[in-house]
Amino acid sequence: MPELCYMCDKPGVTVEHVPPKCLFPEQKDAGINLRSNLITVPSCEEHNCKKSDDDEFLMVSIAGIIGNNSIGYEHYNGKIQRALKRTSYRLLEKVFLKKQFTRIGDENKFIDVLWGTPDYKRLIDCFTHIAHGIHRHHFKVNFEGTTKALLGFLHTNVPNPKVFKAFIKEKAALELADKTKHGDNPSVFYYQYTEPDQFGIFLVKLCFYQNVDVYISYMPSTAEKPFHLGFELIRSGMETVVTLGDKEFRFNSKSDSKNP
Ligand SMILES: [Zn+2]
Repeated sequence: MPELCYMCDKPGVTVEHVPPKCLFPEQKDAGINLRSNLITVPSCEEHNCKKSDDDEFLMVSIAGIIGNNSIGYEHYNGKIQRALKRTSYRLLEKVFLKKQFTRIGDENKFIDVLWGTPDYKRLIDCFTHIAHGIHRHHFKVNFEGTTKALLGFLHTNVPNPKVFKAFIKEKAALELADKTKHGDNPSVFYYQYTEPDQFGIFLVKLCFYQNVDVYISYMPSTAEKPFHLGFELIRSGMETVVTLGDKEFRFNSKSDSKNP
């Protein structure tokens, strides 16, 4: 009797890598082994094969981000550029809804830098699957409940989401300071879990190439509905200041609305 799929109640007859194996450079490209003890979970056929397209999408979306460590950069320049050339950049069109290429350097040595609007909904979907897979691997049970992903690496200038992102990053940094970084290839990927809060909600930080950070909160179906006065005020549109340690986060700031 096989174990159940990490996403549903069907038998997990295949093996799924979380995060996708293609994010980890091969030894022949990297020169060192970056595929040691990759994390796998059982998956039904539907939840596995549906994803191979998504895996490539995710690889192209995150490996080329400026600021990644040299492993992400090399991976982007090697395997990913080859994949892009092979498919005549069609892959990129799938990744970026609006895109632009900027070529940096001279004609002998250059890099193509991506600049555009990523397919946000699809990225969220990919990271949600990873969050379920990591939960299954870490806690040995499937997660039942709702998740919410925050892509720390995407930049926004809309006032409230911008402050909220800064707030979550700071909160996660404080709560994760003494938590173990899991994953045998931390220069490519590691994850950390917070303890559940008073409502039973907890958070995972996924970190790729030491730069691309994603925060996913898990709200188990058994958790109490959280009530936070500050966030109720924020939702109502009132100017609200939330303090965390020695930092202040100002939501619905009056000065923002004057200077959009
Ligand atoms: Zn399934």
